[in-house]
Amino acid sequence: MGGGYTGLWTALALKQKQPELDIVVIDKGLCGSGASGRNGGCLLSWSTKYLSLRRLYGEAEACRLVRASEQAIYQIRDFCLEHDIDAQLRLDGILYTATNPAQSGYMDPVISGLMDGNINNWERWSLEKVQKDSGSPRHVQGYFSPAAGSVQPALLVRGMKRVAQSKGITIYENTPMDSVREGKPAVVKTQLGDISAKKVVLAINAWMPQKYPSLNRNIILVSSDILITEPVPALLADAGLNDGKAVVDSRLFVHYYRSTPDGRLMLGKGGNMFAFNNRVHPAFDQPSRYQAQLRHAMASFFPYLNNCRIERTWTGASDRSTTGLPFFGHLNQQHNIVYGLGYSGNGIGQSYLGGQILSSLVLDLDNEWTRSGLARGPLGKFPPEPIRWLGAMAVRGAIRRKENAEDDGIKPRWIDRQLAKLAAATGKLDKG
Ligand SMILES: Cc1cc2nc3c(=O)[nH]c(=O)nc-3n(C[C@H](O)[C@H](O)[C@H](O)COP(=O)(O)OP(=O)(O)OC[C@H]3O[C@@H](n4cnc5c(N)ncnc54)[C@H](O)[C@@H]3O)c2cc1C
Repeated sequence: MGGGYTGLWTALALKQKQPELDIVVIDKGLCGSGASGRNGGCLLSWSTKYLSLRRLYGEAEACRLVRASEQAIYQIRDFCLEHDIDAQLRLDGILYTATNPAQSGYMDPVISGLMDGNINNWERWSLEKVQKDSGSPRHVQGYFSPAAGSVQPALLVRGMKRVAQSKGITIYENTPMDSVREGKPAVVKTQLGDISAKKVVLAINAWMPQKYPSLNRNIILVSSDILITEPVPALLADAGLNDGKAVVDSRLFVHYYRSTPDGRLMLGKGGNMFAFNNRVHPAFDQPSRYQAQLRHAMASFFPYLNNCRIERTWTGASDRSTTGLPFFGHLNQQHNIVYGLGYSGNGIGQSYLGGQILSSLVLDLDNEWTRSGLARGPLGKFPPEPIRWLGAMAVRGAIRRKENAEDDGIKPRWIDRQLAKLAAATGKLDKG
């Protein structure tokens, strides 16, 4: 169920492992009409999450997952090359920066952990190089890793759909799953007919808590808001921003940006809208409500783009888990129904691994994916409503005030620092 990256990578991995399988993917809209077709296109590994991974799963598994997440990036590139998918994929790395002195040093403990595990490929760049290669004088520090890049998200997911069909996977779009009747076989109910299935994979991401309230407290839906400018290739090239590098700052409500091959700037920001009771609100499918904040961010990063037209803004729901990492498992102890979600804004490369985990669970394999801690369900709960939403609002306000004060070089208030720590304890709210 669900024709985003998770559903399609799972179907493709299953077909590769067992070509004789009869696989059907259904999506309530089009394949890619969820997060997979509208994300920021920053193709990142889990290396920035190394400390969380090590705390939760131990050093060996953390190293394995970081390495696998880096390989996934190259595997996605190879998949696109093999199947002639022009998803504008450019592996020009990631620059992880600080935009004020309070953010400086954020990466130091992560890099030292990665070095201990012998898997570090981050290097610190000089300030001059950071500012020159990021297209913005606003950065005050930066670390670069080559194992990353960017992609046009919708072209990737539509290309995956085409390849899936060419391999004999049946895809029904505009076919919402109403419910799944548990049993052997399980029966997927839709308005247009039923599907009898030995195994069911639930890959419906933000819509999962509505359908399955037992998972409602394991994630919180939060928006990522994005703008894209008209093509301004000469301006971006002059400023040094003319490759596929992703740039991410060290705020909790992170800014992320990249250029596109036709010379547009795409800039996004996490942590604006929190969904009460995880309802997928219509605003998640509309132009961003936070255009003023996006414009302000663009003006502060790229003063030379002041006269440039913003062509579109949009938003989407990110499925934030308590750990900042996705989780996979069997639904309600049903051996033949598996699910995966919780990518927390880091899902393009990671959903490739999700496909490995879910296909391994479906086939009852005993391998590093079914043995991984990621395949043992969620690891924590958010408070029940209305406390979750009220808490999220309080923490959001505190983080905004804290980060604005830090931008202005002022010491944030004690209470704001304490509230912000609640979010920091579970990792950044997006991309890192
Ligand atoms: C605005 C935004 C920016 C992001 N930026 C980045 C980024 O730069 N880098 C990064 O790595 N990650 C990013 N992410 C996260 C990433 O996009 C997701 O983690 C990833 O796309 C999740 O893929 P998925 O297949 O699990 O979910 P989705 O792509 O959401 O797919 C779920 C699918 O299920 C379908 N569906 C829902 N209900 C039903 C039903 N009842 N029946 C049938 N089908 C149903 C939906 O239509 C949808 O197509 C971003 C997310 C958002 C929202």
